Amino acid sequence: MSNLFSLEYAQQLDAQDPIKHIRQSFTIPKQSNGNEEIYLCGNSLGLQPKLAAQYVNDELSQWAKLGVKGHFSGDYPWMPYHEFLSEGFAELVGAKTKEVVSMNTLTANLHFMMVSFYRPTQTRHKIIIEDHAFPSDHYAVESQIKYHGFNPEQSMILLKPREGEETLRDEDILKAIEEHGDTTALIMLPGVQYYTGQVLDMESITKAGHDKGCKVGFDLAHATGNIPMKLHEWNVDFAAWCTYKYLNSGPGSVAGCFVHERHHTDKDLPRFAGWWGHDKDSRFKMENQFVPMESAEAWQLSNPPILSLAAIRGSLDTIKNAGGIHKLREKSLALTNYLRQLLEQELKDDINILTPKEDKSSGAQLSLTVNLQGADGKQIFDAIEADGVTCDFRHPNVIRVAPVPQYNSFEDCFHFVTILQNAIEGAK
Ligand SMILES: *Cc1c(COP(=O)(O)O)cnc(C)c1O
Repeated sequence: MSNLFSLEYAQQLDAQDPIKHIRQSFTIPKQSNGNEEIYLCGNSLGLQPKLAAQYVNDELSQWAKLGVKGHFSGDYPWMPYHEFLSEGFAELVGAKTKEVVSMNTLTANLHFMMVSFYRPTQTRHKIIIEDHAFPSDHYAVESQIKYHGFNPEQSMILLKPREGEETLRDEDILKAIEEHGDTTALIMLPGVQYYTGQVLDMESITKAGHDKGCKVGFDLAHATGNIPMKLHEWNVDFAAWCTYKYLNSGPGSVAGCFVHERHHTDKDLPRFAGWWGHDKDSRFKMENQFVPMESAEAWQLSNPPILSLAAIRGSLDTIKNAGGIHKLREKSLALTNYLRQLLEQELKDDINILTPKEDKSSGAQLSLTVNLQGADGKQIFDAIEADGVTCDFRHPNVIRVAPVPQYNSFEDCFHFVTILQNAIEGAK
């Protein structure tokens, strides 16, 4: 058998990779010695697609040339610009085009979604989230509960892994829904957990929640562009995601949102409205009678930042050029499993991988802890960064690495393990 842990083997895997050329569509940051970085941080901030830069520049030129007329002229007029992203978003999350919209930022969207879908009553007021939710999600949920006059101590149900375990078991999530479902208004969980990289079973969670009469929404910050989903078919009520992680659209870029079509014509649903959610045929009559669009667009407030949408469009076109999310997922599984194999083979005693092993429970990211007497994860992290790796560190001791199928190579995984091995040897 060939040696997996060799440069030749990694290069052979790259040579067989049907989408290896997509890396050329990105600008890869350089180290001070001129070599490309081993960039494994796309779960935090994705790299820049060349098309994103091009499309942003196109809109700057349109603005310079056309001024206000850019709203209605040119190939991509600004008035309907968000519509140019619908097909790409819909394909990534498994939705109809009218169920998705780009607007605001992620945490803002979670709040706006909760305005519509968290309607607590005296008997049904709880929100189920995870104990180790991303802080922004925790704050959003906690503040919504307080805003409605309830007490987070009673109304916030925090799901924890079992004693001695790192990730949530699907069966334990379903058990909590069974136990609290009758008093729960909303279940809000991640599609992919940011700290451990665990993929949750969104379909069974949604079904279990609906069986108990709860609304079910997902934070897809780490899922969109990482794993394929079927939000429409799974009947998810709502979802929101940022676009600067696996969607490579630049720091703080505009977020995405999904609202299932069965909610589009519900006149009783409360929402915080703005003019961009008004029926577009009569929006400019300015009559102050809000007529919501019959789509996720009804939740829009403002006319969106076009430069940011242009970057997202560049990213979505790059994904399309790579053959779409299923093609990316195929490579992602091969790439991340290769990295896992190398870590297990070369660093078995020194490294723990928190991320579940089964394909259905993991995406691009592996979350690692280092078990070294006298050395902590941060020390190892600093050493690998000094050696050309960009990844990230999360307190207290997790190193997160995410080989991204669009621009990472098998060779990147090989170099990462070599550098990590050197850092660990150096710390012993
Ligand atoms: C990245 C991330 C955020 C960031 O929120 P912003 O509103 O975009 O600043 C929130 N929640 C989760 C789960 C994330 O992974």
